[in-house]
Amino acid sequence: MSVLAINGGQRAIPEGEFKDLPWPPVSEETAESLKQLYLSRAWSFNSKAEQDFENEFAAYNGAKYGIFMMNGTVTLQAALIAMGVKPGDEVLVPALTWIATIMAVRYIGATPVFVDIDKDTFAIDCQKAEEAITPKTKAIIPVHLYGSMADLTKLTAIASKYNLQILEDCAHMQGGKWMGKGAGAWGDIGSYSFQQSKTLAAGEAGICITSNPDLAEKLYRVKHIGYSRYDKQGQAGTPPPQGLECHNFRGLAMTAKILSDQLKGLDELLERYDQFAKIVEEGIADIPGVRVQARGRLASRQGYYAFCYVFDGPEWDNIPTGKIQAALAAEGAPTGRTYGPVYSHMLFNLTPDQYVMPKGGCPVAEHVHDRTFNMLHWKMYEKNNAELLLKAIRKISDNKKELKA
Ligand SMILES: *Cc1c(COP(=O)(O)O)cnc(C)c1O
Repeated sequence: MSVLAINGGQRAIPEGEFKDLPWPPVSEETAESLKQLYLSRAWSFNSKAEQDFENEFAAYNGAKYGIFMMNGTVTLQAALIAMGVKPGDEVLVPALTWIATIMAVRYIGATPVFVDIDKDTFAIDCQKAEEAITPKTKAIIPVHLYGSMADLTKLTAIASKYNLQILEDCAHMQGGKWMGKGAGAWGDIGSYSFQQSKTLAAGEAGICITSNPDLAEKLYRVKHIGYSRYDKQGQAGTPPPQGLECHNFRGLAMTAKILSDQLKGLDELLERYDQFAKIVEEGIADIPGVRVQARGRLASRQGYYAFCYVFDGPEWDNIPTGKIQAALAAEGAPTGRTYGPVYSHMLFNLTPDQYVMPKGGCPVAEHVHDRTFNMLHWKMYEKNNAELLLKAIRKISDNKKELKA
């Protein structure tokens, strides 16, 4: 008699029992204030709604300034420009991230240098980052991937030792804290995305945060075609510094308003997500060979974009990932996959002279991608989903023999 659902047995998670939080969230109250905003005609150009969100979000993370923009890719690009990274300079980037992290480096003509990741947190490997530094290196972009923070203590120490700048890519880390201080406030600049699937979601938007007034002023000019924050549209009072390449990366008042409203609920959302994570972390401890993505060493709070679980103990050595995935899916468990190493992504099309690969490649990023499944954050809202996920994983583990056969 077959037990596993893939062989015709009963599903561990009955149809419809695993519940998603509808995402992105909507509210009547926000809909009403959007209507008022629309009627007010204050849609852009440093409107009050943009300034309010900039101030609220910077303060929430413990930074002084927020510079609101149209998405979380141009925020990375603007940050590199403001930091003075130039064509030909090298920027260290983790091998496992969304391709935007790397493309932003190319957009300004600099060279992304891939660094392998830490097997447990999936963030940039600090020792390998230090080994990749050359006289051309100007900056490091740690990415706080999925729900774990890069080691900001080690990275800031490396940055000051070699006089490098840090740009934190916090697209996955809304609300995360390292030793009590917000993500994005540790680096010279922190960059956030509020694209529709992120933990704060406005369709399209992004922000840079910083506590450095010089960088804040440059970021503002870069996003607003050269205007200073204190200029009225059409009345430029002072020129941007010579050579500072300025763009139109302006955001919209409407998305800023959506985000101001959502930010009020972020703490509660993260508490729910953390509760889910804790239940799975505890429950998975006695399932042989299965682990979850580790929390950042000194993270005092995680911000979740996705929840990752990994089948890479020796118990699973002879079972292909595709087989595990099919079995889990048949039980009703969510089995998304990571982006994969950037250089292997379908959309990645840089030529090999446009980036640097480490001598031995990035075997850890490849291994992690190969054995990891994930689920996006809105599946973490219901506590019961944690028990259901554990039930499915445990069932596959208890019936490895049947799976192997
Ligand atoms: C989403 C994302 C971005 C880019 O954000 P967009 O707003 O989609 O441009 C950058 N880095 C990472 C890691 C992301 O996941």
